[in-house]
Amino acid sequence: MTGRFALNSRVCSWRSAVLRLMVVVLFLFSTSPLMADKLRVGTFAVDASPPVGSPLAYDPTVGIQLPLSCRGIVIVGAGEPIVLCAIDWIGISSGGHQVFRERLGEAAGTTAARVAVHTLHQHDAPRCDFSADELLQAQGLGGTGFDTAHARDVLRRASLAVTDAVSNAVPVTHVGLGEGTVEKVASNRRILGPDGKVLHTRYTATANPKIRAFPAGTIDPQLKLLSFWNEDEPVAVLTWYATHPQSYYRTGLANPDFPGMARNARQDETGVPHIHFNGAGGNIGAGKWNDGSPENRQILADRVADGMRKAWENVDLEPVSAEDVDWQVESVVLPVADHLDEEQLLATVQNSEADNATRWYAAKNLVWLRRCKVRDPIDISCLSVGRARVLHMPGELFVEYQLAAQQVRPDLFVAMAAYGDYAPGYIGTEVAYGQGGYETSERASRVAPEVEHVLMEAVRSLLKN
Ligand SMILES: [Zn+2]
Repeated sequence: MTGRFALNSRVCSWRSAVLRLMVVVLFLFSTSPLMADKLRVGTFAVDASPPVGSPLAYDPTVGIQLPLSCRGIVIVGAGEPIVLCAIDWIGISSGGHQVFRERLGEAAGTTAARVAVHTLHQHDAPRCDFSADELLQAQGLGGTGFDTAHARDVLRRASLAVTDAVSNAVPVTHVGLGEGTVEKVASNRRILGPDGKVLHTRYTATANPKIRAFPAGTIDPQLKLLSFWNEDEPVAVLTWYATHPQSYYRTGLANPDFPGMARNARQDETGVPHIHFNGAGGNIGAGKWNDGSPENRQILADRVADGMRKAWENVDLEPVSAEDVDWQVESVVLPVADHLDEEQLLATVQNSEADNATRWYAAKNLVWLRRCKVRDPIDISCLSVGRARVLHMPGELFVEYQLAAQQVRPDLFVAMAAYGDYAPGYIGTEVAYGQGGYETSERASRVAPEVEHVLMEAVRSLLKN
């Protein structure tokens, strides 16, 4: 017994010496300039359509008109992996957003801080907030706001797909940066009267021709595009365009609406995985160009697809290596809106006389208020790829933030994805809170006017380099 034990332990120590040597060799190899230069990109996409009978944002799901997707890219070789993810849902808040970032990060072998998760904000699509659901579970109302099992299943499948994307990532040698003007889609929702206050809110479907006739107002008509290439082979296309994505909704039929249709059409045409993000479209919608008629959805999709095509065709390929890629994060605590009252919200959550939707919104707001009270920050991140900067922002952000970020660095290509953490709701500019209107009202915004200062500080800091 003693002899065999001794032999085994000698074999073991020999084996562990070889193992240690292998680890050292692997470490040296992985940190050598040769490996560090190997920038690679992988793509992933899974279905995110909800089951029939489960909640969409405003109605139960009756069917799937067009599948929803959860898709993105993983960038490997420039420090720890970076994950960008875009989902055809209305919004992912608080604990939902955090869990998505953590799980996708684990799947890619990186930290949550290097994961950006954004929704496109379609309205015939689900929402997700695991923390609000937890609060309601205690009231016997788990699953009121969304189908938690489905959300976790999408996340499970997305995580597997992210791990595969890391394994299957292909070398990237060039990037293409392009812009295309989108005609007759974006219009500002806030029409100001002579007194400087909001006179009309031009919602995304506007039946009244008089309200449609007002000028488009402040918008960003430019669709931005970043493509990754392996020599002359395109690997992935990312696009950003700021607008609410609805043409019409409350049909009970899940669908990715016109921006998703444009993205799908382009992907079919080019054969290249296409990931689209909503920009700072909080106060933007298609209202000026959309009476809400069903046939108008395809028209709007074609116009966005045209902008995508122009941006795709207008690119000059620039060489890129791992040293040209960077990821920076600024964690900020947003100033919470005065109108949120913890006792009142808790009373509503616990009030069995109130309807379920009211209790859901109260739970969601209570989670947000408590997060702000313990100074739980929101990560604002910036991906640098050569002269491109991509900012990842929370909430239903006003377009002015996107335009201001571009003005901070007119020498760079600055793109912005909003609708990250959905918990703050609408995020206006400081002046907008004094103008009235829906977006900055207590119903819609859960942050205080000082939010502009906090976010713009972070944006300026992230765009320094
Ligand atoms: Zn919205």
